[in-house]
Amino acid sequence: MSRQMGDNHRRFLQTMMVNGIIDEHGARALYQYCCETHHTQYAPDKLDEFIDTINSRLQPMFMQIRKGMSEDNGQQYYALVNMAETDITRMSSDYADNELELFRKTMDLIVGSENGKASSTDILNTTDSMTTKKLKKSETEHLLSRLVHDKWLSEKRGEYTLSTRCIIEMEPYIRTMYQDQFKECHICRNIAFQCQICENPTCGIKIHNPCVARYFKGRSEPRCPACDDFWPHEIPAHMRSPSSQQVSINRTVSTGITSSPTRRSEMARESRSTLVGLWSCLK
Ligand SMILES: [Zn+2]
Ligand SMILES: [Zn+2]
Repeated sequence: MSRQMGDNHRRFLQTMMVNGIIDEHGARALYQYCCETHHTQYAPDKLDEFIDTINSRLQPMFMQIRKGMSEDNGQQYYALVNMAETDITRMSSDYADNELELFRKTMDLIVGSENGKASSTDILNTTDSMTTKKLKKSETEHLLSRLVHDKWLSEKRGEYTLSTRCIIEMEPYIRTMYQDQFKECHICRNIAFQCQICENPTCGIKIHNPCVARYFKGRSEPRCPACDDFWPHEIPAHMRSPSSQQVSINRTVSTGITSSPTRRSEMARESRSTLVGLWSCLK
């Protein structure tokens, strides 16, 4: 297969730049759409090869479209990630130093917790020990909603988790920074936050909730895959559901492949500034 980028690849990349992260269902639909629009060959089973071609062009810019699993629903997602920055300094163009410190503290809480969550109260309490300019309560709340909006965190009933995009993008950082704390899922070997834990104290393996659902499906008596102890947790139902994500394709279509200066500044506001360099790829 040709490794040359065509307009179909460029349109796919452009949509990734606008959305940041797309679920597998959306990525497949987008792949088909891009191939059909540009009258290029569409092979349903060749999405990963199609993305490899884009990645070969992104490599010199230390960017990559990387695949990872959502801890919420077990679905695969594709995220456009920055490989150049090795830690959260990658966010420094969008957040002030004290905001990054609070995000770091939130990550500490989430990684250090049993269930991969941090409550808004616990996050607010960490502001007392800030070394940079202390954030007020209202500023912290505003920052948390920004972090959710920018897809670094997810929030449900006042509890915060790392978003799928954050886990995909920050995985190398988390593996380095939290070597003694993070755990892998025993089934899929990805880093695990929201999961079930084996209660045998000599075992204690973690399994993502969607991986639990998949692994124990149809088994009458669930047993730990590592130590064979009885698995005492409730087995969640298989979670795979149709895509609910709205992929912003239409806007991209009307804009066309050539980027205008207006469009460029719009992009810079919309997505992280690191992505703006990618426009060179679209020419
Ligand atoms: Zn897993
Ligand atoms: Zn076990």
